[in-house]
Amino acid sequence: MATQPAGIPDLIPHYIDGERVASVDGDTFGVLNPVTNEDYTRAASGKQADIDLAVAAATRAFHEGPWPRMKNRERARILSRIADIVESRDQELAQFESWDSGLPITQAKGQAQRAAENFRFFADLIVAGRDDTYKVPGTQVNYVNRKPKGVAGLITPWNTPFMLESWKLGPALASGCTVVLKPAEFTPLSASLWAGIFEEAELPRGVFNLVNGFGETAGDALVKHPDVPLISFTGESSTGKLIFGNSAPHLKALSMELGGKSPAVVFADADLDAAIDSTLFGVFSLNGERCTAGSRILVERSVYDEFVERYAERAQRIVVGDPADPKTEVGALVHPEHFDKVMSYVQIGKGEGRLLAGGGRPEGFPEGNYVAPTVFADVAPDARIFQEEIFGPVVSITPFDSDEEALELANNTKYGLAAYIWTNNLKRAHLFSQNVEAGMVWLNSHNVRDLRSPFGGVKASGLGHEGGYRSLDFYSDQQAVHITLGDVHTTRFGASADH
Ligand code: NAD
Repeated sequence: MATQPAGIPDLIPHYIDGERVASVDGDTFGVLNPVTNEDYTRAASGKQADIDLAVAAATRAFHEGPWPRMKNRERARILSRIADIVESRDQELAQFESWDSGLPITQAKGQAQRAAENFRFFADLIVAGRDDTYKVPGTQVNYVNRKPKGVAGLITPWNTPFMLESWKLGPALASGCTVVLKPAEFTPLSASLWAGIFEEAELPRGVFNLVNGFGETAGDALVKHPDVPLISFTGESSTGKLIFGNSAPHLKALSMELGGKSPAVVFADADLDAAIDSTLFGVFSLNGERCTAGSRILVERSVYDEFVERYAERAQRIVVGDPADPKTEVGALVHPEHFDKVMSYVQIGKGEGRLLAGGGRPEGFPEGNYVAPTVFADVAPDARIFQEEIFGPVVSITPFDSDEEALELANNTKYGLAAYIWTNNLKRAHLFSQNVEAGMVWLNSHNVRDLRSPFGGVKASGLGHEGGYRSLDFYSDQQAVHITLGDVHTTRFGASADH
């Protein structure tokens, strides 16, 4: 059993207007380690009053502070410093993240490095960015006056907490917004490091505020706050719907990255070795707690038996273990509530498919939220394990006989986040990619994404696309300024001589 990393506070506080503070009502909640399921610390439990204070601080910093008015280069310098600090602390960050979330340490370290890259990328983007100017020869010039929108409300999930926070913080801060972050209640530990990182990078006071707490209290108060004009949310589709409704009376700008049940489609002409490596990593990395997991594998019938046999054999050999051990490939799921949910799907799957690997706790792990990598074959498209997001190390495999059937199966869920296509037929690759209902497609590739490209889902997987300049657009108003050159020619109302 790993020992607790050094430096964990006894209470994870809020961070409001540059101060680490307890909740106004003094309330706290327990934070557990997913290997022992015992509380190792407590966190301040924010409510409306704490959100009000955080929003007030962010509003002051927006209207009176330097941040929104700084030159892009000055803001970029601070963002680059943040990137450097995050990068230099990747080991500490990974230890905190792995301890709190159960993610394998090596993968948590990769996520910390990605978080640094998110800040570096948006620092570069605002310095290199440009806005449009339109000339109407001799008569008008129109230009875009880009302005930060105000206080951004950021609500994040627990699956890769620090990285997903950076994903929103990077572009929100780069745009000149001030922010209130409400991290997931299962995993508040790594978020507590932002305050120190931002202080060291000399981010002005009040620009970044953080309120810990539950979705129904702290999250809800942020969504309904009249002085927060935009909400960037990542989480479950059902929560997204609720937030959409709660934002409607305020007509807030919304960016929603929601759930997924993404297909990985393997045609007989594919490089089967590469497809097996990728589809294993695609569903079992990050403990299967991955929005873009390829959790439905569709395989052309002529290679189906071979694929299934080889896949199951590899899945059985995946190293499940202590998240802190660098050899671990699958760690412990984040929380006993989530463990119970994933285990319930494993039971459902036993009645819906042919169990080829896993199917319960791995041997030698009687405690903790460990689930053995689980593979079900011959899963019918109306099965619950085919249709519903499990968000754990569980995959279903289904055969198909034609391109048409593969497309039909791929599109046959309410979700549309990612799709992975494995084929060496050029025409099929492009036709299939263009017709599959997914916000993002990877062709003969696992999930690697250049930060300039759009990220987002269709159908129940999301609203709007972030990524690159699209993220900056979300956090900015693009005001059109129209200037007349020369004489103004206006139709003259009320100037008629006939009156
Ligand atoms: P969740 O929806 O339960 O919670 C996400 C966040 O929303 C948490 O901070 C929670 O406290 C808050 N929240 C809950 N109810 C709220 C309310 N009524 N008002 C305001 N805030 C509220 O999601 P989760 O279980 O933490 O995360 C897993 C889900 O996130 C999965 O569905 C996964 O697919 C999705 N996800 C999507 C992406 C993506 O980019 N599309 C990335 C990661 C995770």
